[in-house]
Amino acid sequence: MQERLENGLVVRVTGGEVWVRVGSETVACSQRGRSRVRESALAVVAGDRVTVLRESAAVGSLEEVLPRTSWLSRYIERGSTERVVVANIDRLFVVVAAVDPPLHAGFLDRVLASAEWGHIRACIVFNKMDLAGPGQLDDLRVTYAPSLYELIETSAESGRGVDELATRIENGVYAFVGESGVGKSSLLNRLDPELDLVVDELSERTGRGRHTTTNAQLFPFRDGFLADTPGMQTFSFPGTDVNTLIECFPDLRHIERTCRYNPCTHSHEPGCAVKAAVEAQRVPQSRYQSYLDILAGIRERAKKKQW
Ligand code: GDP
Ligand code: ZN
Repeated sequence: MQERLENGLVVRVTGGEVWVRVGSETVACSQRGRSRVRESALAVVAGDRVTVLRESAAVGSLEEVLPRTSWLSRYIERGSTERVVVANIDRLFVVVAAVDPPLHAGFLDRVLASAEWGHIRACIVFNKMDLAGPGQLDDLRVTYAPSLYELIETSAESGRGVDELATRIENGVYAFVGESGVGKSSLLNRLDPELDLVVDELSERTGRGRHTTTNAQLFPFRDGFLADTPGMQTFSFPGTDVNTLIECFPDLRHIERTCRYNPCTHSHEPGCAVKAAVEAQRVPQSRYQSYLDILAGIRERAKKKQW
């Protein structure tokens, strides 16, 4: 087979191997040369656009990881580092449950802020609507107004809203994240009951076993790809700059900022316009609280680093 570079899309990363979609084929690639980056934030992940050199139809090597246009990343306490979950996402669906597990605004807001940080458009999926009481989401609809984030109500149980969800998925890469138990896998299965088969087929063809993975992986879906991420118990904002965190909160960012100090972290400063807006109830307290919590986390990390 003639050796030439081909463009591909990373669908899965396991131990030492990167599975790359080239056209309609999937190639198991080893990493070499410049692509072999150990640095956490730059290590190759699902969604990365890459170039590969094929040795046979199903086996090759990964040559280069191309620059990302967007990325979802989180801060990992162990190793004090940023880790990218999935790259080049056209839209992120953040799945929360109407009930069980109860909504954790802190978790949701950390994911939304991280999406903003990584230049990703986010959409909130309220799942398990079959279990929701009347009016249960009213407050949430005020907090997460449609002008800020798209909202979709679904039930993976009854199928409600799943068609609407599917219409938002076009020919790009669409990622799903959520706390364990919110029904993310059930929703993905509703969207396409055959998603899982792709992986099994590939394992058979290349003779390599199916590895369990803690990373995101992509599945072809219609003209695009769905990215499933492992269910998460925690999710920490990856940024480190206290002066620009506000940019990751579109509702707080849009307050006309006439803070007395510049830069202002909008936490303790007298004459802060954001604090004034919160006190006047022009912004939901819970969103501001999430902002303050992330800010405190960033400061805590910075202090630890100094030690
Ligand atoms: P994941 O951890 O987010 O992938 O969640 P799963 O898809 O494994 O679902 C967790 C539990 O919630 C399972 O018992 C599902 O049957 C249930 N579940 C998922 N979606 C719904 C839903 O829309 N309504 C109801 N009533 N249960 C659901
Ligand atoms: Zn301020």
